[in-house]
Amino acid sequence: WDDTYNVIVIGAGGAGLSAAVSAKEAGCKKVVVLEKMMFAGGNTIRAGGGFNAAIKADYEKAGIKDSPDLHAQQTLAAGDGRGDPVLVHQLTEKAPESVQWLKDHGVKFEDHIYQIYAGLYKRARNPIGPRGGAYIKALLEVCKKEDIPILYNTRVVEIIREHQLSGRVLGVKVEQKGGKTLYLRALNGVVAAAGGFAANDRLTAIHDPRMGQLDTTNHPGATGDVLIDLVDIGAGTRGLDYIQCIPGGVPGEKHAPNLFTHVDRFLFVNLDGKRFIKEDARRDVLRDAMLDQPKAIAWTIVDADGFEQLKNSKGPENEVALKTGTLYYADSIEDLAKKIGVPANNLKEAVDTYNKAVDTKKDPLGRAEGVLVNKIIKAPFYAGRVTMKRHHTMGGVIINKDAQVIDRRGNVVPGLYAAGEVTGGIHGTNSVGGNAMADIFTYGRIAGVNAAKNPA
Ligand code: ADP
Repeated sequence: WDDTYNVIVIGAGGAGLSAAVSAKEAGCKKVVVLEKMMFAGGNTIRAGGGFNAAIKADYEKAGIKDSPDLHAQQTLAAGDGRGDPVLVHQLTEKAPESVQWLKDHGVKFEDHIYQIYAGLYKRARNPIGPRGGAYIKALLEVCKKEDIPILYNTRVVEIIREHQLSGRVLGVKVEQKGGKTLYLRALNGVVAAAGGFAANDRLTAIHDPRMGQLDTTNHPGATGDVLIDLVDIGAGTRGLDYIQCIPGGVPGEKHAPNLFTHVDRFLFVNLDGKRFIKEDARRDVLRDAMLDQPKAIAWTIVDADGFEQLKNSKGPENEVALKTGTLYYADSIEDLAKKIGVPANNLKEAVDTYNKAVDTKKDPLGRAEGVLVNKIIKAPFYAGRVTMKRHHTMGGVIINKDAQVIDRRGNVVPGLYAAGEVTGGIHGTNSVGGNAMADIFTYGRIAGVNAAKNPA
């Protein structure tokens, strides 16, 4: 071995950094994070950062009912019952603690909760700062303070087990930029927190053929190589076919508009100017509906108030999109229709029908009452062009509620833990907006603590 640690964490995203800090704080002397890119953050840094947790003080302040149990039930239902109830309950019960843990580690949150896009319930809170990057920034500072090295440009290419399909996980083989190969020993455990594979065209297309033609929202490192390393040493997998998409820019158009963050503010219409889906639908339902539209394209429509509400979070992106021609505005719906090349009578009808639905609380497409609150009436009106992008891979390696990796025969792989997007079984077929943040920080912490207390 070239070096020995107590805990080796693979991946410097949200799951990995929280695992590393937790392992260190659980008493491990030597913890290291291995990161193949030249910077930390993975997909977490790109995420909106909305974090679902049923926290009593927050839902009582918002005047709504909630509980970890309701959160679990909704999560399982949204995943068509394909999530593992034990994992999901662990997630929703520990998610409030994870918010507190992040606060204790320097993350500040906005003081209100909201229903995030595809969130299905008012349960998300945003960190203050650069969205998902706010978590990474805070945790990198903790790593520095607590003397947890992060080895960048260091790619894990193999997980080493006593025997290929049995025995304890001993460490990892890494390749560093410049061609250096190192063997690193983990006395207590290896935590795989290497993220998903939505940036891998081939792997996603194998699991869902529609995916091959789409772009991804992911960082280029989200290729699933560690998932394959884990399979090589016997890890079981589940849910690899469930690949979530979210709206995003059309391929070839660099600057994507984002008008779809606040579900109570926008409409989707297709190239005919017609609505085709309730905007608060589950992400998989939205994906299937949008991919079925002409050219798989939709226009997102908001009014001046809706646009104003986005200023804080999406302002800069939308300013650029306005300049580069993927975001349009006009003083009337008819003029907007002309600008974006959809039949004006259809667009007018879509908006009028929606506005009427806000009055009657009955939407022909079934949008829920809670998001039938804001009419689209105040000029100027805005339209942004989007399609679907591969976003989140639900599937991954099987873990138990202690974040131990389970092999294909159902046995624990000693010395091996996994957390975050590299795992499967939590989101079922479909992850709920805001649950990914809850997942990575909750299971990241669990993996770190358990790896720490498991010396060989
Ligand atoms: P999660 O949300 O589960 O924490 P992220 O995508 O945020 O996932 O972070 C995963 C991190 O793991 C990324 O920074 C990615 O570059 C890193 N990673 C992926 N594959 C490897 C690998 N083979 N070796 C080291 N790091 C890896």
